[in-house]
Amino acid sequence: MARAAAAFDTSPVFVGGHWRRAAGGRTLPLTNPSDGSLLGEIARGEAADIDDAVRAARAALEGDWGALAAAERGRVLAKMGTLVLEQADELARLEALDVGKPLGQGRTDALALARYLEFYGGAADKVMGQTIPYANGYTALTLREPHGVTAHIVPWNYPMQIIGRSVGAALAMGNACVLKPAEEACLTALAFARIAAQAGLPAGALNVVPGRGEEAGAALSAHPGIDHISFTGSAAVGTLIQAAAAKNAVPVTLELGGKSAQIVFADADLDQALPFLVNAGIQNAGQTCSAASRILVERAVFDEVVSRMAGRYRALRVGPALDDLDVGPVISRRQHKIVSGYLDLVHTGGLRVAAAAALPATLPPGGYYVAPTLVADVDAGHRIAQEEIFGPVQALIAFDGEAQALAIANGTPYGLVAGVWTRDGSRALRVARRLRCGQVFVNNYGAGGGVELPFGGVKHSGHGREKGFEALYGLSALKTVAIKHD
Ligand code: NAD
Repeated sequence: MARAAAAFDTSPVFVGGHWRRAAGGRTLPLTNPSDGSLLGEIARGEAADIDDAVRAARAALEGDWGALAAAERGRVLAKMGTLVLEQADELARLEALDVGKPLGQGRTDALALARYLEFYGGAADKVMGQTIPYANGYTALTLREPHGVTAHIVPWNYPMQIIGRSVGAALAMGNACVLKPAEEACLTALAFARIAAQAGLPAGALNVVPGRGEEAGAALSAHPGIDHISFTGSAAVGTLIQAAAAKNAVPVTLELGGKSAQIVFADADLDQALPFLVNAGIQNAGQTCSAASRILVERAVFDEVVSRMAGRYRALRVGPALDDLDVGPVISRRQHKIVSGYLDLVHTGGLRVAAAAALPATLPPGGYYVAPTLVADVDAGHRIAQEEIFGPVQALIAFDGEAQALAIANGTPYGLVAGVWTRDGSRALRVARRLRCGQVFVNNYGAGGGVELPFGGVKHSGHGREKGFEALYGLSALKTVAIKHD
C-alpha cells in the first residue's frame, strides 16, 4: 500500500506553470530506501513532455521572465530562499523518505538550498561586463547574457543542493530552466517547483519533468531547443550527455564522480582531523561525489590514525533516515548490490578490515543498509582505491613522504576534491598546488558546504564550475560590442 510521502500530488510534471500528467500517462514507483516500501508514484516523463517544457521555457524568455530586470529576478530568488527556510523541516522529511538521508543531513541540504537562492538572488544584478581599451574611434564593451533555455539533469544523492547551485545560478542569469530530477528521488525537486510558483517565479522560467534517464533525460540532452546543459551524475552518463550536446553544439557543465583523498601528514593535528576524516566517508552513506573515500596517511602516524578512525567506525549508529542517526541506507537495491560487490572484493581478497559498524538486528528488513567499513593497508592500485564505490567504505593507504602522497592522490582517473592535513604552511601550499583536482581543503574538508566556493572537477570528474560567482559565468554567454564613432 502506498504511504503518503508528501502533502501534495507527486505524480505530475510541472510545465509552463501548470501541473499535468505525463504525456503518456505513465508513472514510476518511488521507493523508501529505509524500509523498501512504496512511497508513491512519480511521472514518467518522455520526449513529448520535454518538448513542451522546452517550448514553455522559450516562451518565458520571450515573455514575463525575459522582461524582468536583473534586480527583480534576484528578488524572486530571495523570496524562494525565504520559503525554503520556512519549509526546511518538511523538505528534510521528504529527502529522508526519498533518499534515505538522516533527517539532520536533509535539513543541512535544505539550508544550503536556501543559501544558494540567497547568494544567487543577491548576485543577479552584480554580474558586469567590461569596457575594453580598443583602437581609437571605438568603444568596445562586453555584455553577459543568458544562454537561453538551460537543461539541468541531476542525480539522487543531493537533489536540493544540486538544484540550488545549478538552477539557482541559471535563473539568476535570466535563463529559463528545464529540470530533470533523478527517477530514484525527486520529491524535493517537485517541492522546489511549488515553492518557485509560490514565490511568484513567472510561468515557464522553471519546468520540472521527472522520468527515466534513458527517456526524459536523453530527450532533454538531445533537444535542439536547449542552449546549455548542466549535468551532475556518473562519468558514464556524462559521456553520453557530452556526445548529445556535441550534436547541437551546446556548452556543457559536467559534475561527475570522484575518488577524493585526504592526505594526513605526520605533523597534522589529529584531534582536529579525525571527525573530518570519518564524516567525509560516511556522510549520506558515502554517496557523495566528494566523499573522501581514500585516506592517505604518513607511515609514522598510520597505526594511530587507523586505530582512532576504527574507534569512531565502531561507534557509528546505522538506521532508518527518520531516526536521524549517523548513517542511513543506500539509495536502492541496485546501489546496495554495487557496494556489497566491493565489500566482497575486500573480504575475498583478504584485505584488512580495520573496523565495520554493526548493523542492528532491529533494522527494517526491506531497507538497503550497508555496514560502514574501514579498510586498512590498501594498495593504491587496488580497485577499491581506484573506483568510485558510492557507499560507506573508506580505504586507508600508507605513504612515505610528500612525493609519494602526491603520486597516490593524483593516481586515479578522477580529480574532484582533496584534503591536506599538516601544520607546515609551506608544505600545505606546495601540495595544494600540485594536486590535480578542482578543490583543495587545508586542515578542513568541505569548508562547511561553501556555497561561495567554485566547485568542479578535472579529468573524469568533469569540467566547468558550479557554486560561487564562477557558476554565473558558465551560465551566461559573453557578447562583445564594438562601436565605431568619431
Ligand atoms: P547517473 O549518471 O546514473 O544519473 C544522473 C542523472 O542522469 C539522473 O537524473 C538520471 O536519470 C540521468 N540519466 C541517466 N541516464 C541518462 C541518459 N542516457 N541521458 C540523460 N540523462 C540520463 O548518476 P547517479 O547514479 O544518479 O548519481 C551518482 C553519480 O553522480 C556519482 O558518480 C556521483 O559522484 C555523481 N555526482 C557528482 C557530483 C558532482 O558535483 N561532481 C554531485 C553529485 C553526484
